Amino acid sequence: LNRRLAEFGTTVFAEMSALALRTGAINLGQGFPDTDGPEEVREAAVRALRDGRGNQYPPGPGVPELRTAVAAHQQRRYGLSHDPDTEVLVTAGATEAIAAALLALVEPGDEVIALEPYYDSYAACIAMAGGTRVPVTLRPREGRFRLDLDELRDAVTDRTRLLLINTPHNPTGTVLTREELASIAELAVERDLLVVTDEVYEHLVFDDAEHVPLATFPGMRDRTVTISSAGKTYSFTGWKVGWITAAPPLVTAVRSAKQYLTYVSAGPFQYAVAEALALPESYFTDLRTDMRAKRDVLASGLEEAGLTVYRPSGTYFITADIRPLGETDGIAFCRALPERAGVVAIPTAVFYDHQDMGAPFVRFAFCKKRPVLEEAARRLKNAR
Ligand code: PMP
Ligand code: GLN
Repeated sequence: LNRRLAEFGTTVFAEMSALALRTGAINLGQGFPDTDGPEEVREAAVRALRDGRGNQYPPGPGVPELRTAVAAHQQRRYGLSHDPDTEVLVTAGATEAIAAALLALVEPGDEVIALEPYYDSYAACIAMAGGTRVPVTLRPREGRFRLDLDELRDAVTDRTRLLLINTPHNPTGTVLTREELASIAELAVERDLLVVTDEVYEHLVFDDAEHVPLATFPGMRDRTVTISSAGKTYSFTGWKVGWITAAPPLVTAVRSAKQYLTYVSAGPFQYAVAEALALPESYFTDLRTDMRAKRDVLASGLEEAGLTVYRPSGTYFITADIRPLGETDGIAFCRALPERAGVVAIPTAVFYDHQDMGAPFVRFAFCKKRPVLEEAARRLKNAR
């Protein structure tokens, strides 16, 4: 492994899912639903396969049906208009979108500011692009992991190229508020920064939280690459269909990198996701209602087990503090948890540069059937 990637061995998700398989523990580690997405969307994929749509290389930017559906979704939900031909690019999941965006937009030596804890691929992709990551830590305060806007402002230097934002935020479940986003936007405009914003959990927001895309703020449309994916919204994490929306020069740049990463993404699934994006509003409402109920089952279970829970406003993850159990090291705790309680979780320390700040936090996924969550909650009482 070269020097750029030396610090990135096996991803924590692979390690923890392997641990779950080996021990037979309930896997609340890697975030994937245990129920597949809608039947009609699966049928749409089968139809595309049978009809020979997408079985040979689809167009590089993605099939027109999907690009049109993505543009229509952004317009309908957020009032953002995008030309499907020049302002939408289909990628192999959000993961490739992140990689291609960073490879295309970061010069070696550029600083990239990311919210810490950060999704693990951010650090690796910044490194592959030759950039330097500058973490700005979300700190738990009054029940929520919060962004300190002064700290963000202070992190910007003459070398800062872009802000890498993620809302709703994995792993903390924080949904940045309209006010916080407005401040981020003002900073980006003032310091002339590009913004890459990972909004894969855009439809998974609960209670009073609202997802507002950064691209909707003044001055942002032309400096923002917005990333999303069918994995989370439609519960097809194995399909790996993602996309970006951005202004033409940014799409062209990201596409240049994408061409040499995968060239194209799986054809038949693109047609199916195009149909998924046109599902009626009730699909999204039901998804949110279902996930919120699951969140509450797991959150209560974790509280009863004695952990301090940061009840998330978005995503399908709960971050909890293990210190009330007399534990301080989340990595050791997660390694022992399958034996002790038959549950697998993710130590969020692996998403931090400031390891000490992340040490006592553990992430649990709640995108699982209710009986699974109830059983996990029962078992977690043995976590002490
Ligand atoms: N970004 C975030 C914040 C995620 O949580 C995930 C999925 N774990 C991804 C990107 C990757 O999405 P995809 O599976 O579409 O590549
Ligand atoms: N995004 C999922 C998570 O955060 C899984 C990602 C992965 O396996 N790379 O758990």
